[in-house]
Amino acid sequence: MSDVFQVKARCGAARRGKLHTAHGEVATPVFMPVGTLATVKGVPQETLEDLGAEIILANTYHLFLRPGTETIRKLGGLHRFMSWERAILTDSGGYQVFSLSDLRKVREEGVEFRSHLDGALHFLSPETATAAQIALGADVVMAFDECTEYPAQHEQARASMEMTARWAERCKRSFEEHRGEVPWRNVSGFKFQVSSEEAQAGNVKRETRNDSQLLFGIIQGGVYADLRRESAERTVKVGFPGYAIGGLSVGEPRTLTREMVEATLPHLPADQPRYLMGVGTPEEIVEYAALGVDMMDCVLPTRAARHGLLYTSEGKLAIKNARFAQDGGPLDPRCSCQVCARYSRAYLRHLYSSNETLAAVLNTMHNLAFYLDTMRQVRQSIELGRLEALLSEVRSHSLNSSARGRDPA
Ligand SMILES: [Zn+2]
Repeated sequence: MSDVFQVKARCGAARRGKLHTAHGEVATPVFMPVGTLATVKGVPQETLEDLGAEIILANTYHLFLRPGTETIRKLGGLHRFMSWERAILTDSGGYQVFSLSDLRKVREEGVEFRSHLDGALHFLSPETATAAQIALGADVVMAFDECTEYPAQHEQARASMEMTARWAERCKRSFEEHRGEVPWRNVSGFKFQVSSEEAQAGNVKRETRNDSQLLFGIIQGGVYADLRRESAERTVKVGFPGYAIGGLSVGEPRTLTREMVEATLPHLPADQPRYLMGVGTPEEIVEYAALGVDMMDCVLPTRAARHGLLYTSEGKLAIKNARFAQDGGPLDPRCSCQVCARYSRAYLRHLYSSNETLAAVLNTMHNLAFYLDTMRQVRQSIELGRLEALLSEVRSHSLNSSARGRDPA
């Protein structure tokens, strides 16, 4: 049995599992809020804790440029820097280099690019991206990959996938050589270093069986099932404690996203965690959990919230709508979050219409609560063997939404 991941229950292809990180256990399937610049926009860390987030995502590309990964390492790593003692996953920067930066030059060695902030020249490679993530001290570190753009010809997608496979080997080698350099190894105060008296006094809430960083491999291959399969086989051969399906949610039709996920999953080890990057709507996260995906992240709940788009048990609503102006009822009568317990739709509409900062804060809190609660229901339904019932309920409440995707900014 793996020290990193355990499957506790199954329902069809879906798995109810536990991911053991150096900063606590993560119940899966899990939705990871996106904290691009070491902040989930608008929400303080104590609120994320209250919402029950066990793991959040941060972006290496952004932190590499500002404030700099070395600065964060000197301050004790990302957990200490942002005061978050639960798990963190960092994206390798591959996706942002390809989506955000100007004038990038891709070579076998790595990618030279200009910062989207000030135009300064930078270089990221399998080795430097891995070093940056070790400096940040993320619990889950992602291999540096080339995110194949959409659309791409088969030949182009193959070349890109093969480069990602060669880079995966370099990432693993570099990670193995430097993994002891993680900043929290020598920082006192984290739970796996507390004394036994503290443990006995009950001060250790988040025990762990794994005290090191984990490096996950990334599957590419564009929208070609044969390349996805080959990428999976090659990446699994390199050998990682977990695997991500990358390069999706980049503009392709949703049916194709699903097809590619279905083409990839059978080629990933059954006893290891599977992470689908950049997905999705509330309905999609339930659908992908049902297919056997264990981890997901998406900017949708936080970004939509800042635009006044709120996910509820009755579908998506735009709070600016005039029909809410006199509505004294809660945002979502079935939601138990702090926002729904306290504030009315009329008040939330007023805040949003008046361009008040609090609108983004409260909207984000609710949307995250809705996503995290959806995943809680998924986990419960898997345990009870009733995931199908939840699926049909979610499908019936779902409204079409065109906005989705990963965070380019
Ligand atoms: Zn709510």
